[in-house]
Amino acid sequence: MLQLFMPLGFLGVVYRQIKHTLVDMGQMFDLLERTPEVRDAPDAGELRLAHAPEVRFDRVSFAYQPERPILREVDFAIAPGTKVAVVGPSGAGKSTLARLLFRFYEVGSGAIRVDGRDIAGVTQESLRRAIGIVPQDTVLFNDTIFYNIAYARPEASREEVEQAARLAHIHDFIAGLPQGYDTLVGERGLKLSGGEKQRVAIARVILKNPPILVFDEATSSLDSRSEKAIQTSLAEVAENHTTLVIAHRLSTIVDADTILVMDQGRVVERGTHAGLLAADGIYARLWALQQAESREPRLPPTAAVPE
Ligand code: ATP
Repeated sequence: MLQLFMPLGFLGVVYRQIKHTLVDMGQMFDLLERTPEVRDAPDAGELRLAHAPEVRFDRVSFAYQPERPILREVDFAIAPGTKVAVVGPSGAGKSTLARLLFRFYEVGSGAIRVDGRDIAGVTQESLRRAIGIVPQDTVLFNDTIFYNIAYARPEASREEVEQAARLAHIHDFIAGLPQGYDTLVGERGLKLSGGEKQRVAIARVILKNPPILVFDEATSSLDSRSEKAIQTSLAEVAENHTTLVIAHRLSTIVDADTILVMDQGRVVERGTHAGLLAADGIYARLWALQQAESREPRLPPTAAVPE
């Protein structure tokens, strides 16, 4: 009997693995917005980084459709282990920078270089291994919270996953759930808030520990406690990493080494928070506006409903 059941049990495992892989691939496809036209060059080499590298956008221009330029001669460098934040109005092209760094699309002209190496000449696999992203909206797999964190490094031990969750300030929350790390999440399981999902994404990145980080800040506003927890985790993770932050709230990036202000696909101002305030330009105006907004008392939603 045992012998009869063994192969069936084995098939069950294989079936689950295949199912997982298919679900993962489907989700990754959405997540990465993979474009089939981006191919490795025939002589593409491996990008091997032993430390946080310099990331340089060298006069990069880009258009999704030829008739509509999105980035125009964008030129900046993130020195090894430092943080550059990009701000600007919606549609300015901020997230496009991250997509190009991942090489989901080829640049129109110019080049993106990592430690001087044009990313068009390295394998996509090795490039993406070097970059960790905390996206605006994290995709969770219909699986346990353990699987969702360990996904970045499937061979990770229980201790390593818990340590990553601690650093991402989500361990206590998970430990407090009745089934702890075995809790099912995703569409068919426990729904996590935007802030919790971002902390899962941060835990994934901590576990992966890539030398380059991209943080695409959530557009939807988180409550201030979640935002603070996320900021604390990120500041800790970003240390000694080369970091690009796509920011929607200026308050979260005052400590960046350089802030780039983008408008209509161009970098129109750059500097530190203090320097940009002193320059009294677009950034200073945006800052004054956000400060005023945050001081405005908010009415509870019901107060706006007419009797
Ligand atoms: P937000 O602050 O709203 O996230 P953003 O500055 O990050 O905006 P991007 O997402 O980089 O802006 O988009 C820049 C422009 O490119 C937008 O006008 C957008 O409509 C366009 N765009 C983005 N993705 C695509 C795409 N896949 N195909 C065509 N156009 C696109």
